[in-house]
Amino acid sequence: MTIYDTVIIGGGPAGLSAGLYAARAGLQAILLEKSFLGGQAVTTGTIENYPGFPEPITGFEIIGRMEEQVRKHNLPIEIKEVKSLTYQKDTDGYTIHLGDGQILNTGTVIVATGALALNLDVPGEKEFTGRGVSYCATCDGPLFREKEIMVVGGGNSALEEAIFLARFGKKVSIIHRRDALRGDKILQNRVFENPKIQVIWNSVVKEIKGDSVVKEIVLYNRVNQSSSSHKIDGLFIYIGTKPNTAWLNSLITLDSKGFIIADEKLQTNLPGLFAAGDCRQKELRQIVTAAGDGAIAGMMAYHYLQQ
Ligand code: NAP
Repeated sequence: MTIYDTVIIGGGPAGLSAGLYAARAGLQAILLEKSFLGGQAVTTGTIENYPGFPEPITGFEIIGRMEEQVRKHNLPIEIKEVKSLTYQKDTDGYTIHLGDGQILNTGTVIVATGALALNLDVPGEKEFTGRGVSYCATCDGPLFREKEIMVVGGGNSALEEAIFLARFGKKVSIIHRRDALRGDKILQNRVFENPKIQVIWNSVVKEIKGDSVVKEIVLYNRVNQSSSSHKIDGLFIYIGTKPNTAWLNSLITLDSKGFIIADEKLQTNLPGLFAAGDCRQKELRQIVTAAGDGAIAGMMAYHYLQQ
Protein backbone atom coordinates (compact mmCIF):
# COMPACT_ATOMS: atom_id res chain seq x y z
CA MET A 1 0.00 0.00 0.00
CA THR A 2 1.30 3.48 -0.91
CA ILE A 3 1.81 5.78 2.05
CA TYR A 4 1.52 9.29 0.71
CA ASP A 5 3.34 12.37 1.95
CA THR A 6 0.30 14.46 1.17
CA VAL A 7 -3.20 13.91 -0.15
CA ILE A 8 -4.89 16.97 -1.65
CA ILE A 9 -8.67 16.85 -1.49
CA GLY A 10 -10.34 19.08 -4.09
CA GLY A 11 -9.34 20.01 -7.63
CA GLY A 12 -10.14 23.73 -7.86
CA PRO A 13 -7.47 26.44 -8.17
CA ALA A 14 -6.37 25.89 -4.53
CA GLY A 15 -5.99 22.12 -4.92
CA LEU A 16 -4.25 22.36 -8.30
CA SER A 17 -1.82 24.96 -6.98
CA ALA A 18 -1.16 22.86 -3.84
CA GLY A 19 -0.52 19.88 -6.13
CA LEU A 20 1.94 21.87 -8.22
CA TYR A 21 3.96 22.97 -5.20
CA ALA A 22 3.84 19.54 -3.53
CA ALA A 23 4.94 17.78 -6.73
CA ARG A 24 7.76 20.26 -7.33
CA ALA A 25 8.91 19.77 -3.71
CA GLY A 26 9.27 16.08 -4.48
CA LEU A 27 6.45 14.89 -2.23
CA GLN A 28 4.65 11.63 -2.90
CA ALA A 29 1.35 13.37 -3.54
CA ILE A 30 -2.06 12.67 -5.05
CA LEU A 31 -5.00 14.96 -5.83
CA LEU A 32 -8.52 13.62 -5.34
CA GLU A 33 -11.51 15.35 -6.94
CA LYS A 34 -15.05 14.04 -6.66
CA SER A 35 -16.54 15.42 -9.90
CA PHE A 36 -14.59 17.69 -12.27
CA LEU A 37 -11.46 19.80 -12.00
CA GLY A 38 -11.81 23.55 -11.54
CA GLY A 39 -14.59 23.93 -8.96
CA GLN A 40 -16.55 27.16 -9.18
CA ALA A 41 -13.81 28.79 -11.28
CA VAL A 42 -14.39 26.51 -14.25
CA THR A 43 -17.95 27.79 -14.67
CA THR A 44 -16.92 31.44 -14.48
CA GLY A 45 -17.41 33.10 -17.86
CA THR A 46 -14.81 35.85 -17.81
CA ILE A 47 -11.85 36.40 -15.50
CA GLU A 48 -10.24 39.82 -15.67
CA ASN A 49 -8.36 39.98 -12.40
CA TYR A 50 -5.96 37.04 -12.48
CA PRO A 51 -2.52 38.66 -12.68
CA GLY A 52 -0.62 38.00 -15.87
CA PHE A 53 -3.69 37.86 -18.09
CA PRO A 54 -4.36 41.41 -19.31
CA GLU A 55 -7.05 40.19 -21.71
CA PRO A 56 -10.14 38.46 -20.27
CA ILE A 57 -9.76 34.71 -20.00
CA THR A 58 -12.46 32.11 -19.30
CA GLY A 59 -12.44 30.00 -16.14
CA PHE A 60 -12.35 26.93 -18.34
CA GLU A 61 -9.17 28.12 -20.05
CA ILE A 62 -7.36 29.11 -16.87
CA ILE A 63 -8.19 25.78 -15.20
CA GLY A 64 -7.08 23.94 -18.35
CA ARG A 65 -3.69 25.66 -18.10
CA MET A 66 -3.40 24.85 -14.37
CA GLU A 67 -4.19 21.21 -15.07
CA GLU A 68 -1.65 21.07 -17.92
CA GLN A 69 0.99 22.50 -15.60
CA VAL A 70 0.42 20.01 -12.74
CA ARG A 71 0.30 17.09 -15.17
CA LYS A 72 3.71 18.20 -16.52
CA HIS A 73 4.98 17.71 -12.98
CA ASN A 74 3.46 14.22 -12.88
CA LEU A 75 0.96 14.83 -10.11
CA PRO A 76 -1.48 11.89 -10.02
CA ILE A 77 -5.09 13.13 -10.24
CA GLU A 78 -7.98 10.79 -9.54
CA ILE A 79 -11.71 11.43 -9.79
CA LYS A 80 -12.77 9.86 -6.50
CA GLU A 81 -14.94 11.00 -3.64
CA VAL A 82 -13.56 11.15 -0.12
CA LYS A 83 -16.06 9.76 2.37
CA SER A 84 -14.16 10.36 5.59
CA LEU A 85 -10.88 11.40 7.08
CA THR A 86 -9.46 10.27 10.42
CA TYR A 87 -6.39 11.34 12.38
CA GLN A 88 -4.21 8.54 13.79
CA LYS A 89 -2.61 10.01 16.89
CA ASP A 90 -0.21 7.09 17.38
CA THR A 91 1.34 7.44 13.89
CA ASP A 92 0.66 11.18 13.56
CA GLY A 93 -0.85 10.48 10.15
CA TYR A 94 -4.22 10.35 8.43
CA THR A 95 -6.43 7.65 6.99
CA ILE A 96 -8.72 8.56 4.11
CA HIS A 97 -11.70 6.40 3.15
CA LEU A 98 -12.82 6.77 -0.46
CA GLY A 99 -16.28 6.17 -1.91
CA ASP A 100 -15.06 3.10 -3.82
CA GLY A 101 -13.89 1.43 -0.59
CA GLN A 102 -10.20 2.24 -1.09
CA ILE A 103 -8.21 3.43 1.94
CA LEU A 104 -5.25 5.83 1.68
CA ASN A 105 -2.68 6.56 4.38
CA THR A 106 -0.82 9.84 4.40
CA GLY A 107 1.39 12.03 6.58
CA THR A 108 -0.38 15.27 5.67
CA VAL A 109 -3.66 16.35 4.10
CA ILE A 110 -4.56 19.54 2.24
CA VAL A 111 -8.30 20.18 2.29
CA ALA A 112 -9.26 22.35 -0.70
CA THR A 113 -12.90 21.39 -1.13
CA GLY A 114 -14.15 24.87 -2.00
CA ALA A 115 -17.67 26.16 -1.65
CA LEU A 116 -21.11 25.50 -3.11
CA ALA A 117 -23.82 27.91 -4.27
CA LEU A 118 -26.33 28.95 -1.61
CA ASN A 119 -30.01 28.34 -2.24
CA LEU A 120 -32.75 30.92 -1.80
CA ASP A 121 -34.98 28.38 -0.05
CA VAL A 122 -38.21 29.78 -1.48
CA PRO A 123 -41.21 27.87 -2.87
CA GLY A 124 -40.59 26.72 -6.45
CA GLU A 125 -36.78 26.89 -6.31
CA LYS A 126 -36.15 23.16 -6.01
CA GLU A 127 -39.02 22.26 -8.32
CA PHE A 128 -37.80 24.49 -11.17
CA THR A 129 -34.05 23.93 -10.85
CA GLY A 130 -32.95 22.85 -14.33
CA ARG A 131 -36.27 24.10 -15.73
CA GLY A 132 -35.57 27.82 -15.70
CA VAL A 133 -33.80 28.15 -12.35
CA SER A 134 -30.02 27.95 -12.65
CA TYR A 135 -26.85 28.58 -10.65
CA CYS A 136 -24.56 28.65 -13.71
CA ALA A 137 -24.87 31.36 -16.32
CA THR A 138 -21.95 29.97 -18.33
CA CYS A 139 -23.71 26.61 -18.64
CA ASP A 140 -27.30 27.75 -19.16
CA GLY A 141 -27.13 31.36 -20.41
CA PRO A 142 -27.25 30.48 -24.14
CA LEU A 143 -30.62 28.74 -23.54
CA PHE A 144 -32.21 32.13 -22.83
CA ARG A 145 -31.65 34.03 -26.08
CA GLU A 146 -34.09 36.96 -26.37
CA LYS A 147 -35.76 35.87 -23.13
CA GLU A 148 -36.62 37.66 -19.88
CA ILE A 149 -33.90 36.87 -17.34
CA MET A 150 -33.57 37.71 -13.67
CA VAL A 151 -30.45 37.42 -11.52
CA VAL A 152 -30.67 37.38 -7.72
CA GLY A 153 -27.85 38.90 -5.64
CA GLY A 154 -25.71 42.02 -5.50
CA GLY A 155 -22.19 40.61 -5.18
CA ASN A 156 -19.46 40.14 -7.77
CA SER A 157 -20.91 36.86 -9.03
CA ALA A 158 -24.38 38.31 -9.64
CA LEU A 159 -22.99 41.39 -11.42
CA GLU A 160 -20.49 39.48 -13.58
CA GLU A 161 -23.04 36.90 -14.60
CA ALA A 162 -25.75 39.53 -15.28
CA ILE A 163 -23.32 41.23 -17.69
CA PHE A 164 -22.62 37.86 -19.34
CA LEU A 165 -26.34 37.02 -19.56
CA ALA A 166 -27.11 40.39 -21.19
CA ARG A 167 -25.35 39.02 -24.30
CA PHE A 168 -28.22 36.57 -24.70
CA GLY A 169 -31.34 37.86 -22.97
CA LYS A 170 -33.84 40.46 -24.13
CA LYS A 171 -33.60 42.03 -20.68
CA VAL A 172 -31.74 41.14 -17.48
CA SER A 173 -33.12 42.33 -14.13
CA ILE A 174 -30.93 42.11 -11.05
CA ILE A 175 -32.97 41.56 -7.89
CA HIS A 176 -31.13 42.97 -4.91
CA ARG A 177 -32.34 43.02 -1.33
CA ARG A 178 -30.78 46.39 -0.47
CA ASP A 179 -30.37 49.81 -2.12
CA ALA A 180 -26.63 49.45 -2.81
CA LEU A 181 -24.73 46.72 -4.62
CA ARG A 182 -21.95 44.78 -2.90
CA GLY A 183 -19.89 43.94 -6.01
CA ASP A 184 -16.78 45.81 -7.21
CA LYS A 185 -17.23 49.38 -8.51
CA ILE A 186 -15.92 48.46 -11.98
CA LEU A 187 -18.67 45.84 -12.32
CA GLN A 188 -21.32 48.17 -10.89
CA ASN A 189 -20.46 50.78 -13.52
CA ARG A 190 -20.74 48.21 -16.30
CA VAL A 191 -24.13 47.12 -14.96
CA PHE A 192 -25.44 50.68 -14.80
CA GLU A 193 -24.14 51.47 -18.29
CA ASN A 194 -25.62 48.34 -19.92
CA PRO A 195 -28.95 49.27 -21.57
CA LYS A 196 -30.17 45.68 -21.26
CA ILE A 197 -29.69 45.52 -17.48
CA GLN A 198 -31.90 47.04 -14.79
CA VAL A 199 -31.68 46.69 -11.03
CA ILE A 200 -34.79 46.04 -8.95
CA TRP A 201 -33.80 47.42 -5.55
CA ASN A 202 -34.83 46.45 -2.01
CA SER A 203 -36.51 43.30 -3.24
CA VAL A 204 -36.41 39.61 -2.45
CA VAL A 205 -37.83 36.57 -4.20
CA LYS A 206 -40.98 35.27 -2.52
CA GLU A 207 -42.02 32.52 -4.92
CA ILE A 208 -41.13 30.99 -8.28
CA LYS A 209 -44.08 29.77 -10.37
CA GLY A 210 -44.59 27.95 -13.68
CA ASP A 211 -45.86 24.79 -15.31
CA SER A 212 -43.27 22.54 -16.90
CA VAL A 213 -40.82 25.50 -16.85
CA VAL A 214 -40.53 28.79 -14.96
CA LYS A 215 -43.08 31.40 -16.05
CA GLU A 216 -43.42 33.88 -13.23
CA ILE A 217 -41.72 35.22 -10.13
CA VAL A 218 -43.22 36.93 -7.11
CA LEU A 219 -41.06 39.64 -5.59
CA TYR A 220 -41.47 41.38 -2.25
CA ASN A 221 -40.35 44.98 -1.89
CA ARG A 222 -38.98 45.40 1.63
CA VAL A 223 -39.42 49.20 1.64
CA ASN A 224 -42.97 49.43 0.21
CA GLN A 225 -43.85 46.12 1.86
CA SER A 226 -45.69 45.11 -1.31
CA SER A 227 -45.56 42.08 -3.59
CA SER A 228 -45.49 42.08 -7.39
CA SER A 229 -45.56 39.37 -10.08
CA HIS A 230 -43.26 39.38 -13.11
CA LYS A 231 -43.20 37.20 -16.22
CA ILE A 232 -39.77 35.57 -16.60
CA ASP A 233 -38.10 32.74 -18.50
CA GLY A 234 -34.89 32.28 -16.53
CA LEU A 235 -33.77 32.91 -12.96
CA PHE A 236 -30.09 32.80 -12.03
CA ILE A 237 -29.27 32.68 -8.32
CA TYR A 238 -25.99 34.16 -7.06
CA ILE A 239 -26.45 34.92 -3.37
CA GLY A 240 -23.12 33.65 -2.08
CA THR A 241 -21.63 30.33 -1.19
CA LYS A 242 -21.36 27.86 1.67
CA PRO A 243 -18.17 25.89 2.36
CA ASN A 244 -18.01 22.26 1.35
CA THR A 245 -16.89 21.05 4.76
CA ALA A 246 -19.81 19.06 6.24
CA TRP A 247 -18.07 15.81 5.21
CA LEU A 248 -15.29 16.56 7.73
CA ASN A 249 -17.73 15.59 10.48
CA SER A 250 -16.35 18.03 13.07
CA LEU A 251 -12.83 16.58 12.78
CA ILE A 252 -11.36 20.09 12.64
CA THR A 253 -12.40 23.47 13.99
CA LEU A 254 -14.87 25.35 11.79
CA ASP A 255 -16.40 28.81 12.27
CA SER A 256 -20.14 29.34 12.73
CA LYS A 257 -20.69 29.29 8.96
CA GLY A 258 -18.70 26.08 8.46
CA PHE A 259 -15.47 27.62 7.09
CA ILE A 260 -12.27 25.92 8.26
CA ILE A 261 -10.18 27.92 10.71
CA ALA A 262 -6.49 27.82 9.81
CA ASP A 263 -3.46 29.82 10.90
CA GLU A 264 -1.06 31.85 8.76
CA LYS A 265 0.64 28.61 7.64
CA LEU A 266 -2.83 27.33 6.73
CA GLN A 267 -2.57 24.62 9.38
CA THR A 268 -5.81 23.67 11.09
CA ASN A 269 -6.08 22.62 14.74
CA LEU A 270 -4.71 19.19 13.74
CA PRO A 271 -0.99 18.74 12.97
CA GLY A 272 -0.27 18.19 9.28
CA LEU A 273 -3.81 19.01 8.19
CA PHE A 274 -3.92 22.16 6.05
CA ALA A 275 -6.82 24.09 4.49
CA ALA A 276 -6.64 26.10 1.26
CA GLY A 277 -9.01 28.18 -0.85
CA ASP A 278 -12.70 29.04 -0.48
CA CYS A 279 -13.38 26.35 2.17
CA ARG A 280 -11.35 28.26 4.77
CA GLN A 281 -12.22 31.34 6.78
CA LYS A 282 -10.63 34.29 4.94
CA GLU A 283 -11.25 37.85 3.81
CA LEU A 284 -11.00 37.58 0.03
CA ARG A 285 -12.21 34.65 -2.06
CA GLN A 286 -10.69 34.91 -5.52
CA ILE A 287 -8.96 32.54 -7.92
CA VAL A 288 -5.68 34.30 -7.19
CA THR A 289 -6.08 33.96 -3.40
CA ALA A 290 -7.07 30.30 -3.79
CA ALA A 291 -3.96 29.68 -5.90
CA GLY A 292 -1.89 31.55 -3.28
CA ASP A 293 -3.35 29.38 -0.52
CA GLY A 294 -2.51 26.26 -2.51
CA ALA A 295 1.13 27.33 -2.85
CA ILE A 296 1.41 27.99 0.90
CA ALA A 297 -0.32 24.73 1.87
CA GLY A 298 1.85 22.69 -0.52
CA MET A 299 5.05 24.17 0.88
CA MET A 300 3.88 23.98 4.51
CA ALA A 301 3.10 20.28 4.04
CA TYR A 302 6.67 19.85 2.78
CA HIS A 303 8.17 21.74 5.76
CA TYR A 304 5.97 19.83 8.21
CA LEU A 305 7.22 16.50 6.83
CA GLN A 306 10.85 17.71 6.95
CA GLN A 307 10.48 18.40 10.67
P1 NAP B 1 -21.25 37.53 -1.98
O1 NAP B 1 -20.13 38.47 -2.28
O2 NAP B 1 -21.36 36.97 -0.62
O3 NAP B 1 -22.60 38.29 -2.35
C1 NAP B 1 -23.84 37.67 -2.14
C2 NAP B 1 -24.93 38.65 -2.54
O4 NAP B 1 -26.19 38.00 -2.40
C3 NAP B 1 -24.96 39.90 -1.65
O5 NAP B 1 -25.24 41.03 -2.42
C4 NAP B 1 -26.09 39.58 -0.67
O6 NAP B 1 -26.78 40.75 -0.26
C5 NAP B 1 -27.01 38.74 -1.50
N1 NAP B 1 -27.76 37.77 -0.71
C6 NAP B 1 -27.30 36.91 0.23
N2 NAP B 1 -28.28 36.15 0.71
C7 NAP B 1 -29.40 36.53 0.06
C8 NAP B 1 -30.75 36.11 0.12
N3 NAP B 1 -31.15 35.11 0.93
N4 NAP B 1 -31.65 36.71 -0.69
C9 NAP B 1 -31.26 37.70 -1.52
N5 NAP B 1 -29.99 38.14 -1.63
C10 NAP B 1 -29.08 37.56 -0.84
O7 NAP B 1 -21.25 36.25 -2.96
P2 NAP B 1 -20.72 36.05 -4.46
O8 NAP B 1 -21.07 37.20 -5.31
O9 NAP B 1 -21.16 34.70 -4.85
O10 NAP B 1 -19.15 36.03 -4.29
C11 NAP B 1 -18.53 35.07 -3.42
C12 NAP B 1 -17.05 35.46 -3.28
O11 NAP B 1 -16.39 35.30 -4.53
C13 NAP B 1 -16.87 36.92 -2.89
O12 NAP B 1 -15.76 37.00 -2.03
C14 NAP B 1 -16.60 37.60 -4.20
O13 NAP B 1 -15.88 38.82 -4.10
C15 NAP B 1 -15.83 36.53 -4.95
N6 NAP B 1 -15.98 36.72 -6.40
C16 NAP B 1 -15.10 37.53 -7.01
C17 NAP B 1 -15.21 37.77 -8.37
C18 NAP B 1 -14.26 38.71 -9.03
O14 NAP B 1 -13.43 39.33 -8.37
N7 NAP B 1 -14.30 38.92 -10.33
C19 NAP B 1 -16.22 37.16 -9.12
C20 NAP B 1 -17.11 36.33 -8.46
C21 NAP B 1 -16.99 36.12 -7.09
P3 NAP B 1 -26.09 41.85 0.70
O15 NAP B 1 -25.19 42.64 -0.18
O16 NAP B 1 -27.26 42.60 1.22
O17 NAP B 1 -25.38 41.07 1.76
